[in-house]
Amino acid sequence: MKFSIRSKGDETSNKLKHQIKRYLNGFNLIYDEDEPDIVISVGGDGTLLHAFHQYVHRLNDTAFVGVHTGHLGFYADWTPDEIEKLVIHLAKTPFQVVEYPLLEVTIRFNHDEEEKRYLALNECTVKNMEGSSLVIDVVIKGEKFETFRGDGLCISTPSGSTAYNKALSGAIIHPSLSAIQLAEMASINNRVFRTVGSPLVLPQHHTCNLKPVNDVNFDITIDHLFLIHKDVKSIQCRVADEKVRFARFRPFPFWKRVKESFIMD
Ligand code: NAP
Ligand code: MN
Repeated sequence: MKFSIRSKGDETSNKLKHQIKRYLNGFNLIYDEDEPDIVISVGGDGTLLHAFHQYVHRLNDTAFVGVHTGHLGFYADWTPDEIEKLVIHLAKTPFQVVEYPLLEVTIRFNHDEEEKRYLALNECTVKNMEGSSLVIDVVIKGEKFETFRGDGLCISTPSGSTAYNKALSGAIIHPSLSAIQLAEMASINNRVFRTVGSPLVLPQHHTCNLKPVNDVNFDITIDHLFLIHKDVKSIQCRVADEKVRFARFRPFPFWKRVKESFIMD
């Protein structure tokens, strides 16, 4: 089996990376950054997001596991003192895998530029360029739902629902549900402009299309990636066909992670 390790880059994470590498080499596992079967992220949830995007082209052949060197993470849920246990588990393949849904974002352009397709593990956010309000039609399953006017929109995956989405008062969604959630950022609501105000949870195959009303240039984030898109015709969001795979060696129920992250230390 081949493995690769992505470190956050600080001293603690780097040291842990080398320790894990040495242990796994000792079990005759091969370090291969190009085609790993397993990717170990050492740092935080942000580090796992980086690892995910590094290997997004081979999700079917890669399983992720996250070790946290700071606070408990949602993706990084192994502690440094569990490393030896983790290494033994890894060496004793096959391991169990859990799959989480992803968000597919397809951006289409008015003129001849080819469409762009992205996969997000946490979320996609859409804001207007240069800080003015975002004005965009929200089209669900081909039918116009509302014209949104405000700071922006956040479309998240279930596992991303505890990140930016939560700060927008979105619901926390269990990652066994194949769904995406659309949450508003400071919508303008008065006699003229009206939005639903509540986050919407869409099932698989209910596509949400965002269509510009006037402006066509947007600041778009895909997880930690910040991208500017110009001359946009539409931003299509739906549950992706692809899934992300996490290696699972012991039960750590999602609601327990939620509780330990947000309710108690
Ligand atoms: P960051 O600014 O370091 O991340 C913000 C925080 O979100 C960090 O504490 C990070 O954990 C945590 N986080 C990431 N994914 C999470 C998840 N699925 N559930 C719960 N917490 C999560 O930037 P980053 O590390 O590159 O992460 C990018 C993410 O930041 C974006 O995907 C977005 O969700 C989030 N974000 C949140 C807000 C907000 O809450 N207002 C605003 C912008 C972006 P670690 O410290 O372990 O990395
Ligand atoms: Mn971070």
